[in-house]
Amino acid sequence: MQHSVEVTTPARQSRGFSPTLVQTTNLVREYPSGGGVLTAVSDLSIEIPERRLVCIKGRSGSGKTTLLNLIGGLDRPTSGGIWLDGDWISELDEADLVRVRRDKIGFVFQTFGLIPILTATENVEVPLRLANTPVDERAERVEDVLGLVGLGERAKHRPHELSGGEQQRVAIARALANHPKLLIADEPTGQLDLRTGRTIMQLLVRLVRETGLSAVVATHDPTLIDLADRVIELRDGQLVADSDSDNG
Ligand code: ADP
Ligand code: MG
Repeated sequence: MQHSVEVTTPARQSRGFSPTLVQTTNLVREYPSGGGVLTAVSDLSIEIPERRLVCIKGRSGSGKTTLLNLIGGLDRPTSGGIWLDGDWISELDEADLVRVRRDKIGFVFQTFGLIPILTATENVEVPLRLANTPVDERAERVEDVLGLVGLGERAKHRPHELSGGEQQRVAIARALANHPKLLIADEPTGQLDLRTGRTIMQLLVRLVRETGLSAVVATHDPTLIDLADRVIELRDGQLVADSDSDNG
């Protein structure tokens, strides 16, 4: 008898040698709004290959955060499917979704989201504790990821002793702790000055190049967008442009 594992793959694979990491099919997210319905994400079918930095741009209210939350399994679609690295995550129950989020996805937010009373090291340790990583492995991994974001020296500092750019580096290190395949960053430079924002974007580019991660980054800052491999533009929840430069 053949021992086979049932793996459903998306119908469409990207051209070239980079396999698909994320695919959405006819994704819709509606919110009730004053007796009617507001469509925050409208019939979006997109595909994100491995090892790419994809920017999602669009004005405030265009659906960027809604899309990222759906891809990251923080929210559920009204209809349509989301495939991530072997799973139709739109079909998973909450317990499985928690595992996918913990093991495959790292999140970075505009406001950093660090725990104020914990040092940089301790903040980065949080997801490793949640994943029951053994203590000695934990220490090594924390050192690795803080080194990767260039913050080894600041490991013992608490967030209030760090600059905004440094705090976001700690948040990125924390997001990388469990070796995710996908980094989701929602306006990660929104609270930073332009120069610091640019260094954070350059860091994300370097991480994608060096670690084999894919990153999906929402931003409405036009000067940051040219660093991306690909730019997807949303308007009123709809795809209005996709540079798809990695496939072109
Ligand atoms: P962006 O991140 O591009 O600013 P959002 O995804 O936050 O856009 O919002 C898209 C649309 O969905 C907006 O019109 C917003 O008001 C609406 N929206 C977002 N979240 C909710 C919610 N929880 N309840 C109702 N409407 C929402
Ligand atoms: Mg947003």
